[in-house]
Amino acid sequence: MTTPSSDALLQRRYQTLGEYSPLFYDEPLHFTSAQGTWLTTAEGDRYLDGYNNVPQVGHCNPRIVEAVAAQMGTYNVHSRYLNDVSVEYAEELLATFDESLDRVYFTNSGSEANDLALRIARKFTGNRGVIVTDFSYHGNTTALAELTTGLAVSEARPDYIGTITIPDLDFADGAAESDLRQQALEQVDAVIEELEAAGHGLAAILFDPVFSTEGLPRLPEGYIDGLLQRVRAAGGVVIADEVQAGLGRLGAYWWGHQSMGIVPDLATLGKPLGNGFPLGGVVTRAELMDSFSSENMYFNTFGGSPAASAAGRAVLAEVRERDLLAHSAKLGEVIKRRLQEIANRHPEIAVAKGTGLFFGLALLDAEKNPDPHLAKAVVEGMVRQNILISKIGPADNILKIRPPLVITEEEVDLLLTTLERVLDAALAQD
Ligand code: PMP
Repeated sequence: MTTPSSDALLQRRYQTLGEYSPLFYDEPLHFTSAQGTWLTTAEGDRYLDGYNNVPQVGHCNPRIVEAVAAQMGTYNVHSRYLNDVSVEYAEELLATFDESLDRVYFTNSGSEANDLALRIARKFTGNRGVIVTDFSYHGNTTALAELTTGLAVSEARPDYIGTITIPDLDFADGAAESDLRQQALEQVDAVIEELEAAGHGLAAILFDPVFSTEGLPRLPEGYIDGLLQRVRAAGGVVIADEVQAGLGRLGAYWWGHQSMGIVPDLATLGKPLGNGFPLGGVVTRAELMDSFSSENMYFNTFGGSPAASAAGRAVLAEVRERDLLAHSAKLGEVIKRRLQEIANRHPEIAVAKGTGLFFGLALLDAEKNPDPHLAKAVVEGMVRQNILISKIGPADNILKIRPPLVITEEEVDLLLTTLERVLDAALAQD
């Protein structure tokens, strides 16, 4: 709800941050406090957070707040001094990965992590080519703008970036699963051939294990194995971008790639890692670190600072002690069932998507085409009911629901009951 004070703030924002700095929703929300899964506006209205994965263990989680404050009040030094906290955090973080992934570079953001992962991959393989999906986002540096396919960038896409389409069993037009897999893998072969013919070779595939921006596709069995096998056969490495899929988001797993049963060569981390305190990282093998860092001096002044590492340690402790992986898996099953019930009530226009605490509905029109207008009506309808969600996908027609992991079953019930009501109302208006 806009008010005179939020209007004035918006004008001041335009005058300073500019009119292009994106905001969610038709009427921007102005929060002034938050706790757990709830945010409160300047006027005292409360909103249920069904969207944010930065406050993974809850907004203003007291354990994180206290850990950061205590560390900031004790010492917080440049990463080029010895400190206990960063090493303890590195040990604890690496323990959540496959044992082959035994080194970490700390960064401040997902973009820094992906940018560094590309440098490492290119140095290790001696190749330049990178494969991404044809609707993806991995960050905002120059190198990442070159490979952005999922939002507006003015940078031209160089010919060392190859793009592939991720197959989705939910929208296969009746094709058999094996045919869908085969076609998609043939496209991978063609892209690798092109990169090789152009003399770039293949350095890496960079992908988000939940394919969020792409719209949470349901993959054909064996597709990922076939994809990664082709990448590796061509000499490329595998970079799993865990910025959205990671830290318990997909249910019983620490990391999204673990839910796929794969081990990447590099995993890039961001958003939820510090629960709002800037913290990201690149987890990899010593072999890749040696190849890169023996010839490149990489340091990151703030990355994994004692304060950031204190936040990271507190987040890991919260996930462990509150058993949030099991919670995410358990609620994920409840949500899957409920979403399917909603989809069954609207078989023509709704398809249930997602897994764990990353879920949504693909919305279609009567001709079974993506319906971004309906998706927008639902997102705006939800926010009018004080629940935050968003939308994703190449056609912008897939509801994106990705609450903090600490959401309760009652809150999930409120979210989904409201979603049903808002969807019915939006359909009645259509
Ligand atoms: N990778 C993915 C999958 C993302 O969703 C994002 C941000 N939305 C990034 C990387 C970039 O992270 P950051 O904004 O922290 O640089």
